[in-house]
Amino acid sequence: MRGNLGGPRILLRRLRETMAKPTDAQERLNEIVRLIAANMVAEVCSVYVLRADNLLELYATEGLNPNAVHQTQLNVGEGLVGHIALEARILNLSEPQEHPAFAYRPETGEEIYHAFLGVPILRAGRVLGVLVVQNKSQRIYSDEEVEALQTTAMVLAELIASGELKGLSGPGGDLDLVRPMRINGLSMAEGLGLGRVVLHEPRIVVTNLIAEDLPGEEQRLETAIEQLRLSVDDLLSRDDISHGGEHREILEAYRMFAYDRGWVRRMVEAIHSGLTAEAAVERVQSDTRARMLRSTDPYLRDRLHDFDDLANRLLRQLVGNRQGSGDGQEDTVPSDAIIVARNMGAAELLDYGRDHVRGLVLEEGAPTSHVVIVARALGIPTVGQAEAVVSLCEDGDSIIVDGDMGQVHLRPPSDVEASYVDQVKFRAKRQEQYRKLRDKPAVTKDGVDVDLMMNAGLLVDLPNLADAGAKGIGLFRTELQFMVAENFPRMREQENVYRKVLDSTNGMPVTFRSLDVGGDKVLAFLRMAAEENPAMGWRAVRLGLDRPGLLRTQIRALLHAAAGRSLKLMFPMITNVGEYDAAIDLFNREMTHLERHGYEKPSSILLGAMLEVPSLLFELDELMDRVDFLSIGTNDLHQFMMASDRGNARLSGRYSSLSPPFLRALRHVIRKGDKKGVPVTICGELAGKPFGAMAMLALGYRRLSMVPSAIGPVKAMVLDLPLGELSAVFGDILDTAVNDKEIKDFLADFAEKHNIQVPAGNV
Ligand code: PEP
Ligand code: MG
Repeated sequence: MRGNLGGPRILLRRLRETMAKPTDAQERLNEIVRLIAANMVAEVCSVYVLRADNLLELYATEGLNPNAVHQTQLNVGEGLVGHIALEARILNLSEPQEHPAFAYRPETGEEIYHAFLGVPILRAGRVLGVLVVQNKSQRIYSDEEVEALQTTAMVLAELIASGELKGLSGPGGDLDLVRPMRINGLSMAEGLGLGRVVLHEPRIVVTNLIAEDLPGEEQRLETAIEQLRLSVDDLLSRDDISHGGEHREILEAYRMFAYDRGWVRRMVEAIHSGLTAEAAVERVQSDTRARMLRSTDPYLRDRLHDFDDLANRLLRQLVGNRQGSGDGQEDTVPSDAIIVARNMGAAELLDYGRDHVRGLVLEEGAPTSHVVIVARALGIPTVGQAEAVVSLCEDGDSIIVDGDMGQVHLRPPSDVEASYVDQVKFRAKRQEQYRKLRDKPAVTKDGVDVDLMMNAGLLVDLPNLADAGAKGIGLFRTELQFMVAENFPRMREQENVYRKVLDSTNGMPVTFRSLDVGGDKVLAFLRMAAEENPAMGWRAVRLGLDRPGLLRTQIRALLHAAAGRSLKLMFPMITNVGEYDAAIDLFNREMTHLERHGYEKPSSILLGAMLEVPSLLFELDELMDRVDFLSIGTNDLHQFMMASDRGNARLSGRYSSLSPPFLRALRHVIRKGDKKGVPVTICGELAGKPFGAMAMLALGYRRLSMVPSAIGPVKAMVLDLPLGELSAVFGDILDTAVNDKEIKDFLADFAEKHNIQVPAGNV
């Protein structure tokens, strides 16, 4: 029997020496298993690495038949080793053959072993392999030994992730880390993007794993935890979040973890096994992730993000303290970046620069959340709800975002990539066809004129007007400019932006919408008290009327910018005519101010309201007597009619905008508008879907405003559409339909029968 070479700490020191030696990867692995076997007085030590085909391949062994290396393969779930990989859990057994998962592999020359210890090789909660020791004699592995083996597994995880083992595996085996994967999410912005992963929050890489001074490391951990707790307590005591809401819930979860004694104990134990403080945090985080990811409890899975956040804060504190602050990683975004994030703000997306970003993948995200609206405005293909995507990819991995199907292909095999390259070419051709339609008026096959306008909100949107062939800007979301600003834009800054917008349109109409903040539209510089239901809270015109200085400044900026030209302005979230009157009152005061100071006035002024709150459906006569025009924000109107949070991913897709009650409400509005001679536009997302647009035309709408990328497809549909024929039957279908499927099926049949172009995925 070999002698014990000094216990776990000596093992780690030797390990560090081995890692530092300039030797090839196989020799390094062989030495590691030799070291462990000697140190733990074990007859066998083996490393199995998970391959892309989901087999665990024996990569190195001390004690088993050396010919089995790179030959023996196990399925995940097969035998004790496969069981560890499947469950991402340690197995510490005496009499392992009695375990129900035990399976005998003769080619390894395996004899009967009476003790078995195996640990998963984990990285960010993901299993990369399994490390095993076995003894012929009966023995129990001490906690210290288990810890040491886990620490070694961490070193191996880094070795695997570094790519050093590439080319070692047996026939047909690529490492799992490079395994192609398809992740199904939800389509949030259409289009295809091919490129390389850029993790929005780069993973914190712990390179210093093995400790030299254990009490010193324990002290570092203690200090970092103390700071972490203080910062969480501090956040919780702040006025703006102490009143409840979602933010507070998250912070409460942080606090729960920050004070969790089990968490701290496990990290201290990891340090005692010889790890640095940051390596200990990472190891416990990885174990916890692995366990939480396998949990079927939705509450626990939700908490995973909170836990991850907190552990990352702690890591940043520790790594930052050792390395000095700042990682200097900015401005290295590749030109074919696909941004991968759990979630992010609209301004953060803009920071990357449109030219660099080919796609966006979010673990969370909802179709009408702000970052997604901005991504869509910028034409960035986006997939949301892509589960666990952040931990499944590495910076620089090749990736395809299929924004039409809501799929992400990570490290795609060459045939998949080739097929997407073909599709991209095909689309470029189709875009070329749409471009040819650019200057064609949108007239239905039977001669009905339709106004197709675009939604915008940022100066970067403006070139799209000409490119897409829109007839003007049907909705200019003024708040986007505010959302990406550091400070509240002053009157002159606002005026400059509005002037540029008007300058860019060559006299085509622009409908500005007054500031619509609140709800999911958060301004960094405007502290808002947390609200139970922010979408139904103090937002949009409600905020503007209560803070008239704010709204009046904006009106003044608009009036100045539109001097001598047409001004069209609407107010969002009007709930009753009284609010509309109050907004007009503020407008009139600004007009008086303009006149009194002798400024030039706009040549014409049209004022209107957005119909987004269902109460207005029952005050339409009164409203229409007051407005010059109406615009329906179908995103909000739908959310309030269906009592279905537009930003809640669990509900997205549950209630369709083509459902009969919603369409009947829209029919009611256009009938009233036609009767009163009030033009009504549709400016929510519904207008940009070819079937949605078809339904709107069938109901009688003639003005649609949509994302620029939708104008080509919608125009192609319009040109093919025999509208009279559709309208003649659509009313009856709507009268009798009881679900959205009937409507969709009818429209799809109609399109097919009349050879109307409707791109796939555009329901
Ligand atoms: C809407 O609600 O449909 C709309 C167009 O406004 P926003 O999406 O900006 O809330
Ligand atoms: Mg709205």
